[in-house]
Amino acid sequence: MLVQICVTLLTTALLVASACYTDSPPEQRWWAAGNVAVSAGMVMCNVDSLPLLMHSVVGYGVIGFGIALVLRGLRVYCQSTLSWTTIAIITGIVLAISAYYTLVAPSLRARLCFSGFYFALLNWMCAVAIARRGSWRISGIAFAGFVLLGLALFLRGAHLLANDDPAGTANSLVIGLSALVVPLAQICIAFGLILMVMWRYAERLRRLSTLDALTGALNRAGLEMQGKRTGLRAQRGGRSLAVIMIDVDYFKVINDTYGHPVGDEVLRHLARLVRLELRPHDLLARFGGEEFVLVLDGVDLPSALKVAERLRARIEYEMVEFDKLSVRYTASMGVVCSDQHDYDLIRLISAGDAAMYEAKRAGRNRVAVG
Ligand code: GH3
Ligand code: MG
Ligand code: MG
Repeated sequence: MLVQICVTLLTTALLVASACYTDSPPEQRWWAAGNVAVSAGMVMCNVDSLPLLMHSVVGYGVIGFGIALVLRGLRVYCQSTLSWTTIAIITGIVLAISAYYTLVAPSLRARLCFSGFYFALLNWMCAVAIARRGSWRISGIAFAGFVLLGLALFLRGAHLLANDDPAGTANSLVIGLSALVVPLAQICIAFGLILMVMWRYAERLRRLSTLDALTGALNRAGLEMQGKRTGLRAQRGGRSLAVIMIDVDYFKVINDTYGHPVGDEVLRHLARLVRLELRPHDLLARFGGEEFVLVLDGVDLPSALKVAERLRARIEYEMVEFDKLSVRYTASMGVVCSDQHDYDLIRLISAGDAAMYEAKRAGRNRVAVG
């Protein structure tokens, strides 16, 4: 029990320290607060010199409240929440039953069995909250921790239920195993929760550094990174690699006539339209202000020309609705392929750019081959 309390205090310290980090997300604070409550509750339950009510009733209530806070944090992490009413009900149930088995029908065995089953159930609810989010790679460790902790508590409760004397079960295999599993599970949970938050930070950083905030397309850095990979993959697989450069015609006029917000909407609209044409491994990047690059793996020149022509026609046909305004725009495109220019993406882009300017010179709203 001492080891268990020490591990609880250590993992709590870890979660509190990570929650103190500037800009820590709210879920991290709920996890830290929940663990502080669980630690306090465990200490209360194990200090026999405390008054009976504190030791045998309030202690269990505080543990229940702590696990409910952790569950709230997990729900917040999954873009949901756990209401204070539900937290009050979770805490109220454990307080009422502990009070019943302490004051009305005193039974240490009944109290320990109930708390074992109840806390197991709460931990499994935490596991379910994580599992619903679906990504095992990210939350597998915390999920396993909650499942294991629930299992150890459940077995402890079941073992106590099957044996009449709680004091006599202290040396049994189940109690020994659970004493080993509980701290291990607590460590898994603490590290798992911190990993979940770190993964989210890493994902946010990746998006910030590689995606264009306005359109969600790749930015130059993202294109450089992923474009190289796509080029190499196509070359190794002996497939053609096509590049389509797209530039909105008279975009400055759109900005000057309708204002920048409408111009921004046109860019978002264009990115949305292009994405409809893309297969999962194709790349779309915003190359400059109103200039986009499409990198298509396994597409030869005639097919790329068809894609570009289809896009051009769709852009010309579609209307952008914004703030009670309806705006039409067109785009000019340059199409190039590795079959004519080799696989170097920088060279393909500059050849595509030259072709695109050829389309501009020829009157705009058209596709040119480079
Ligand atoms: P062309 O047909 O020859 O391509 O003419 P254009 O007006 O489209 O090209 P130009 O290069 O003259 O103008 C591009 C404009 O795009 C100028 C710049 O203010 C605007 N722009 C660049 N980035 C953004 C942006 O993020 N939002 C908005 N609304 N405008 C932008
Ligand atoms: Mg333009
Ligand atoms: Mg331009």
